Amino acid sequence: MKLYSRVYETVDLDAVRHNMEAMKANLAEGTKMIGVVKCDGYGHGAVPVAIAIDPYVWGYAVATVEEAVILRKHGIKKPILVLGVVPYDGYDLLVEYEIASAVFQYKRACRLSETALKHGTKAVIHLVADTGMSRIGLGITEEAADEAVKIKSLPGIEVEGLFTHFAKADETDKAATNRQMEHYRKFVDMLMERGLEIPILHCSNSAGILDLPAANFHAVRAGISIYGIYPSDQVDKNTVKLIPVMGLKSVVTYIKTITSGTAVSYGGTFVADREMVVATIPVGYGDGYPRNLSGKGEVLIRGQRAKILGRVCMDQFMVDVTDIEGVEEDDEAVLIGKQAEHEITVDDLANTSGGFHYEILCDIGKRVPRVYYEDGKIVGTKDYFDDNYKGFLKV
Ligand SMILES: *Cc1c(COP(=O)(O)O)cnc(C)c1O
Repeated sequence: MKLYSRVYETVDLDAVRHNMEAMKANLAEGTKMIGVVKCDGYGHGAVPVAIAIDPYVWGYAVATVEEAVILRKHGIKKPILVLGVVPYDGYDLLVEYEIASAVFQYKRACRLSETALKHGTKAVIHLVADTGMSRIGLGITEEAADEAVKIKSLPGIEVEGLFTHFAKADETDKAATNRQMEHYRKFVDMLMERGLEIPILHCSNSAGILDLPAANFHAVRAGISIYGIYPSDQVDKNTVKLIPVMGLKSVVTYIKTITSGTAVSYGGTFVADREMVVATIPVGYGDGYPRNLSGKGEVLIRGQRAKILGRVCMDQFMVDVTDIEGVEEDDEAVLIGKQAEHEITVDDLANTSGGFHYEILCDIGKRVPRVYYEDGKIVGTKDYFDDNYKGFLKV
């Protein structure tokens, strides 16, 4: 029996493990891996991915304190680092759930230290060096190094790491990234001169892992590569062979024949110039399927490519199945993944829609259940159908 039919995302946990092994083989001996599972594991489900990669990682990274708490509540025991600045409201949760966070402002460090002392413990932090991203972090200056020392001296603070983030590691020209690394090393030296030695130094994202062995330091932060997608077309795709993890499957809900001159979908942007057989697919931009695939995208039905006709609606779109033999309602439609000899990749969707591959992954929405596979068998499912609204308005 199928658990879900309208649309569901398949998550291949064997591919996740393969990707972790492949990356590990490309890292210097002893380099720790930090598994980045922010944005619900890039749309794959943070908890099941975290469980699958647990044997490979030293710890995890997420974007928000709430994402970290979800992991803790599902039994994840290893270190978790929030990569961004946590608003003051989240400090109690950080301390209560033993979650590390990115801190680089003395002002915030003081507040976090107070919160930790109130709970009778220390808050673990990773300092951030801004070496070229201009997003968050300490600049590479003597004053910034002094501020780091002040932060370290707070009684409720334990400095576990220092990281920076590369802005251009996924580009062919590594000059800018090498400069970022130089700035980072310089900052590490400035802290050393002040007697501040930091246990875990980490810089690399996926692009760094694939292309920059010199940037390994003590740990690396693997994000999109866990999910089998290369950070860009400019990275070396031969050193680490990644296997895509995400698939997206749906079904044909309706088939009809239209006459020449019939317009299809909102705005009538497609008009048939001959008799055509049209299949309706019950997926739309409300599921995170890009509207910019209107008139351009393709799906796989009966092992063949069927082109999208007209605009993608919120919940449905139409495809041309005129030349596909024997199409029937309830046939499987593959939106991402393989069917017979054909494959539609996340990169295809990004390229065709003029979008961004990371965004395609993260945007797969709450209306799409996730189904987890190991050895070709379903080992778990997850959906977001149980709305937990707790408002004051009652029906
Ligand atoms: C998202 C993120 C990563 C992971 O990046 P990928 O390109 O997906 O590997 C690593 N470090 C930081 C600070 C991030 O925000």
